[in-house]
Amino acid sequence: MTIGILALQGAFAEHEAMLEALAADYREIRQRKDLTDDLAGIILPGGESTVQSKLLHELGLFEPLRQKILQGLPVLATCAGLILLAQEVSNDEPSMATLPVRVRRNAYGRQLGSFARAGDVADLRGFPLRFIRAPYIEACLDKKVQVLNETEGHITAVRYHNQLAMAFHPELTRDLRIHSFFLDMVAKRKELALGA
Ligand code: GLN
Repeated sequence: MTIGILALQGAFAEHEAMLEALAADYREIRQRKDLTDDLAGIILPGGESTVQSKLLHELGLFEPLRQKILQGLPVLATCAGLILLAQEVSNDEPSMATLPVRVRRNAYGRQLGSFARAGDVADLRGFPLRFIRAPYIEACLDKKVQVLNETEGHITAVRYHNQLAMAFHPELTRDLRIHSFFLDMVAKRKELALGA
């Protein structure tokens, strides 16, 4: 079971370290040929969403990746990754638009540019939430979007079928629970596909 980690820009090495700690296989996705059909899931890291989106287009990765996500490939998206997935971005153009939420980029303003809290992410109690020039989710655009966390009165983590997306950075903590949860999502989808 190999997880792809989009490695064009941003905090991908930190996600790799999390998967290594969980003894999961991964492959960096840097070009079209890396995006093979055997990938069991994909991680979209934090960074700069406009740069990432531009590179996805330039490398011919944008549409193939988007199609895979629409067809059910499990995806874990953090921060800039959440912006890439959002159907609407209230202060920018949307990118892949696979996740029915409206996000606001750099939403917390200067004072709260970067901050940390502990909070629950669904039933993961007391998760260390690290926000860095983070977006938040202004609205869910489909009633099947599950809200997993709210911080400072705003939605910061959601799940929509195969898409798990958050405004904060679990890969910058020592807490493996979100990555572990994602690997469970990936394994369950594989079992279903095999009819197990
Ligand atoms: N501010 C970045 C953007 O809008 C996201 C920040 C992050 O990924 N830490 O793309």
